[in-house]
Amino acid sequence: MWRIAAVRALRGGGAGAPRAASGAAAAQLRRRLESELEDIRGAGTWKSERVIASRQGPHLRLAGGGAGIINFCANNYLGLSSHPEVIRAAVEALEKFGAGLSSVRFICGTQSIHKDLEEKIARFHQREDAILYASCFDANAGIFEALLTPEDAVLSDELNHASIIDGIRLCKANKYRYKHMDMQDLEVKLKEAQKHRLRLVATDGAFSMDGDIAPLREICQLAQKYDALVFIDECHATGFLGPSGRGTDELLGVMDKVTIINSTLGKALGGAAGGYTTGPKPLIDLLRQRSRPYLFSNSLPPAVVGCASKALDLLMESNAIAQSMAAKTQRFRSKMAAAGFTISGKDHPICPVMLGDARLASVMAEDMLNRGIYVIGFSYPVVPKGKARIRVQISAVHSDEDIDRCVEAFTEVGRKHGAL
Ligand code: PLP
Repeated sequence: MWRIAAVRALRGGGAGAPRAASGAAAAQLRRRLESELEDIRGAGTWKSERVIASRQGPHLRLAGGGAGIINFCANNYLGLSSHPEVIRAAVEALEKFGAGLSSVRFICGTQSIHKDLEEKIARFHQREDAILYASCFDANAGIFEALLTPEDAVLSDELNHASIIDGIRLCKANKYRYKHMDMQDLEVKLKEAQKHRLRLVATDGAFSMDGDIAPLREICQLAQKYDALVFIDECHATGFLGPSGRGTDELLGVMDKVTIINSTLGKALGGAAGGYTTGPKPLIDLLRQRSRPYLFSNSLPPAVVGCASKALDLLMESNAIAQSMAAKTQRFRSKMAAAGFTISGKDHPICPVMLGDARLASVMAEDMLNRGIYVIGFSYPVVPKGKARIRVQISAVHSDEDIDRCVEAFTEVGRKHGAL
């Protein structure tokens, strides 16, 4: 055995070394992939990943140096990703319930903590029941196909999240796409869709690229007029929008008019992973029978369940964390506006600093990092051409000083590159 290992080591092909598949098809695939990757680089849309060597939080250490970086690009809105009680709850769940279930829910993958968390989520949103998924991407992938048939229709905002778009692609319902938050267009589409048995309007509650909030009051009025149901994706709202953090439906006073909510446990609610659907009990019962990402994918690991469950406890006890985040958001938005920047959206912790030019967004983001501020530039095709921006995300755990340092750095960098 050792002889084989020694020969492999001499040839540079020791145990664990990657093995390239041989054959014409493998070679052809490699050429095609390399050319596609080159095209992505050439188009300037390559996404590189910065490696973080510390916990998620307002201050980061990057691998290979870079300590004391102030982080403004996580969805850690409430700062619960590294909250000591959330971490303790995860450790306790891990010790009591193990690393994982090695099973899907309906075979032998349901523990008492999964049922408790589903009950807690339903209570938090004031809905009848809830079902857990491995992610909100899965929740969105699983709902439309299970709920809608070729007799039905779904009407979707054109800027909905990719996972809603993919979920809708998987279903056989008639598809209508209305212009972003355009109620006239939605009404036209609702009229056209009257011929179908059931109509479902699907929208993000808050849109992650613009920090804008769906006009849910108007959507619900139209839904009532044209006998439609309303579905919202609350990934960028759950835990902090509305007087008690229930989300966009609470903020806009339509909790009793929105039928279905999908959201994530991977952002404000502890940030570990996981997603869910909450709504009428028969819908949740049906999803347990028919929703493919639920039926054919492993149960959420206990530690992840522990994190989310504790995050919800903290939010149901007090709204202080969400209020602190709202105050910091207000501080950032008003100071940036006073400095001369245009910030898209309103009152949302997603604060897109609008720059227009893609190169400007990219060099400014790079220069911000040189000043210890971690932000990301977004340009086409992630956002429309000519609408490049740097997205800043505020968290409850940023200090006022962090916010002020960010504004100062933006002002310096903006002047240097002619953005102000
Ligand atoms: N929906 C929206 C609006 C999102 O922003 C995201 C995540 O980026 C998702 C769904 C997917 O959530 P998850 O990370 O839980 O899969």
